[in-house]
Amino acid sequence: MTIKSIRLLPINDRTNGWSRILPPRSPKSTLNSNIMANTVVVGAGFAGLAAARRMAENRPDDQIVLLEAHEVGENASGRNSGFAIDLPHVTSSSMDELESAQRHMALARAAIAYHETQIAKHAIACNWSQTGKFQTAVTDWGTENYLVPFADELEMLGESHTWVQGSELKKNLGTEHFKAAVYTPGCRLCNPAALVRGLADTLPENVTLYEHTPVTGIDTSSGINLETKSGNVQADQMILAVNAFAKYFGFYTQHLLPFAANASLTRQLTPEEISSLGCETEWGVTPANAFASVTMRYTQDHRILVRQNIYFNRKMRESKSYRDKISRHHKKLFDERFPLLSDVGMEYTWTGFVTLSGNGAPGFGQVADNIYSCVCQNAIGVTKGTISGLLAADMASRADNELIGYMQSLGQPNRLPPSPFLDIGVKVRTFWEIYRARGEVWRLKAVSLITCPIQNIEQFESSQVEIEDLGKVIWSCDAEVGTPKSVLVKLIDSLV
Ligand SMILES: Cc1cc2nc3c(=O)[nH]c(=O)nc-3n(C[C@H](O)[C@H](O)[C@H](O)COP(=O)(O)OP(=O)(O)OC[C@H]3O[C@@H](n4cnc5c(N)ncnc54)[C@H](O)[C@@H]3O)c2cc1C
Repeated sequence: MTIKSIRLLPINDRTNGWSRILPPRSPKSTLNSNIMANTVVVGAGFAGLAAARRMAENRPDDQIVLLEAHEVGENASGRNSGFAIDLPHVTSSSMDELESAQRHMALARAAIAYHETQIAKHAIACNWSQTGKFQTAVTDWGTENYLVPFADELEMLGESHTWVQGSELKKNLGTEHFKAAVYTPGCRLCNPAALVRGLADTLPENVTLYEHTPVTGIDTSSGINLETKSGNVQADQMILAVNAFAKYFGFYTQHLLPFAANASLTRQLTPEEISSLGCETEWGVTPANAFASVTMRYTQDHRILVRQNIYFNRKMRESKSYRDKISRHHKKLFDERFPLLSDVGMEYTWTGFVTLSGNGAPGFGQVADNIYSCVCQNAIGVTKGTISGLLAADMASRADNELIGYMQSLGQPNRLPPSPFLDIGVKVRTFWEIYRARGEVWRLKAVSLITCPIQNIEQFESSQVEIEDLGKVIWSCDAEVGTPKSVLVKLIDSLV
């Protein structure tokens, strides 16, 4: 296979709040000569950093080169909400699903153990803590339909959990917004930019990291030859850790769905605001439905994180004007939950790009002669990206690891339909997720996603119409944006 050029490169818009609250870091140098390596790893997120380190450990006499298009910590790995999640987002009660959940947990927990070893060994200051997390619902409907089954499934898996509600929940979170929660203790929280910086700055000696070094061309007709703007790399093998950009290297070309996800951090709370919040320690909240509702954190340095708005974004670019809208939207969500803190604004708002597959499978394994892949973490990359990088390196160095089989049992991303069917399909699926969680999200966000995913958040947010049934959604669509009712009815018919 020969591919001349990589058509789409990542950009750094320098909006990531997690890195902006850290001291400045000097990036490693840019590649400016032609070099050779035993293994080249492309992409320095959780996956690539783990792959490079493990490869170096497995083969201490080898030279490993790690190429990063921009700066460590500015990618999705540094921009996420910082939950190292040990449990699957949703489990089910079928035996197959429970066994698969056990494999998910074994993989996630191996990644957490790896992070804890590196953090302790290299004294990485990233506010890592075993805080656990609250899986929350805001309505009786969400409690019945999401939390009760979730608690039942945890029971079947033998996983520790606590039901929290009422004044106890308010005491923990400082807000009455949530109806109930299932607390699980295994999740770790961190500043993700500090963690990936720490991992990058403590790589073994036989790894050379080059930053600001996007790979612009690839030729695999005889060995691995990568072209960058000011130097080439020739290597025996390659580990691809570029997430959705894998497509531009010629892999998973019809299999990966790039989604934009947005998060904001408030300014630090003042001592008075901290005491009015009334909770003593940091916390993390994930919503009943991760697609539709809001993820939040109260950080060790007394900021509140809001993560909401996730949508298909093929070009992996977002504008400042849209981000400004998101920021206002996050402020509104924050005010609804913390009315006593209405003076607190969003200091940073940023967009990052996650990669999903249609069937939730990772893009893991050998994808060509001497080429291994650890892409597509399905938005849980702190753990899944890390473990897939470690295992890709084990595979590439022929090291035995029973977790490789666990990873392979998760399958491969399925092939997606071409445009425009893909775009319609993704919107319908997104709509369906939000519709399923209608009791929890209750506004016309569902409608905005299916009709005009980007522009109309405020218009729909301000409409305050409750979604009680599908008919009402369809009616609202007609009334609010003039989308022909028949089109929506057809879409929904094909889905149900
Ligand atoms: C707002 C938000 C919240 C999230 N919350 C969570 C959470 O709480 N917990 C969780 O587990 N996950 C979360 N995620 C998802 C998580 O961040 C990702 O799954 C994870 O970062 C993926 O890691 P990765 O190493 O595979 O990819 P990335 O971090 O995207 O790294 C890929 C790297 O490849 C580089 N690259 C691409 N093309 C080239 C090229 N041509 N040449 C050189 N380098 C290239 C990129 O610059 C990038 O650095 C969230 C994501 C976002 C955006």
